[in-house]
Order: sequence, then C-alpha cells, then structure tokens
Amino acid sequence: MRIWRFTLNPLGTNTYVVSDDEGAGLIIDPSSPDMTSVLELIEQEKLQIQQIVNTHCHFDHVLGNEELRVKLGVPLRIHERELPLLENAPKQALDWLDIVVTTEQPDGFFVDGEELLIGKLRFTVLETPGHSPGGVCFYHATENVLFSGDTLFAGTVGRTDLPGADGSQLLVSLKTKLWPLPDQTKVYPGHEEDTTIGEERSLNPYFHFA
Ligand SMILES: [Zn+2]
Ligand SMILES: [Zn+2]
Repeated sequence: MRIWRFTLNPLGTNTYVVSDDEGAGLIIDPSSPDMTSVLELIEQEKLQIQQIVNTHCHFDHVLGNEELRVKLGVPLRIHERELPLLENAPKQALDWLDIVVTTEQPDGFFVDGEELLIGKLRFTVLETPGHSPGGVCFYHATENVLFSGDTLFAGTVGRTDLPGADGSQLLVSLKTKLWPLPDQTKVYPGHEEDTTIGEERSLNPYFHFA
C-alpha cells in the first residue's frame, strides 16, 4: 500500500491518497477547495482513483469533495448519518474559513463492517460514532493500517463537545472497534501525525480499557 498525506487547510486536516502497487486508489477526506496538489500527484503517479470517501463530514474534511468528484468523475461515499453534516458544510466553511464550497448528495453510503475494495486493497469499514453521528474508520487487516478520521489521534481522541457528538458513544466505539486491533496497526488520523494502536494503548489516556 502506498500512502500520501496532504495537510491543506488552516485546521490542519489530513487528506490521504492511498493506492495499491498498481496505482488503483482512493482519496480520504479532501480537505481543501483547491485540490491541485492532489491532482498533480495523481497525474505524476498515474493513479487510477476509484472512490472519494469521507471518514465523517465535518466541513474541514469535505471541502474538496466536489472538485475531485467533478475532475476525477468518481463516486463519493459517506455514512448516511453524516448527511446533515455534509449538507451543513458550506455554511460552516463560510462561517469559519470564509470559503465558498458546494456539496452535492453522495453517491453511496457505508454500512458497518462492509468490505471496501479498491484494486488489490481490501478495507473493512468500521462504524465509530461519537465524535460525529456516522463517523467511520477504514481498516486494512493484512497490512495493519487504520485511517481513523477524528475518532483516534496520537495522544488524544476526537472532540465530543460539538453538536451531534456523544462522548459515551465515542468510548464504546473506541473500546469495541479500535481497542481489539493489533498493537502494530499503523494509525493515520484526520489531524496531526500518525501513530500506532500499541503506542496509543500504552500512552493515550483516553484509549485505555484494560
Ligand atoms: Zn471532525
Ligand atoms: Zn477534523
């Protein structure tokens, strides 16, 4: 698996471009209305992007959805319970960053536990509500890679003081979906640096269920 990270907006939101060794790929959380750098990478590396996905639809994770969907002609998928956030994203983007974006209806919804197949990559979609109502993580079991959105960060977890968040639900998600993953699982979060499940198990005060 090849992974490129782009941090493209003032909130430090991570966009990931992920591909198999033949160039079939997906884009996780397009975080700017200007996705030029990502489009350049796709061209340079001759990637065949198959899907755009959002771990959740806080506005900073969806700003580039439409630019990429139009320019790449590929479907966007989210969890259905994120729809209200997606629909509200243009207003939030305007209020917080003075950015004008549009959002359209997604092309499909994730179901908990489904397999997301991109070329030779096989992810499992883990429903992890709490930070937002329909947040998901993407887990690749054989390569031990997790894209955790804003559910789990290096040293902390996602905020639960925002509208639609639920702190006790987040704890259930962490305990039932992420805690069982192997220590060596590499974690690529929605903000800041990558980490591993093992490091978080030993150091993260919010990720502790033993
Ligand atoms: Zn968020
Ligand atoms: Zn975020």
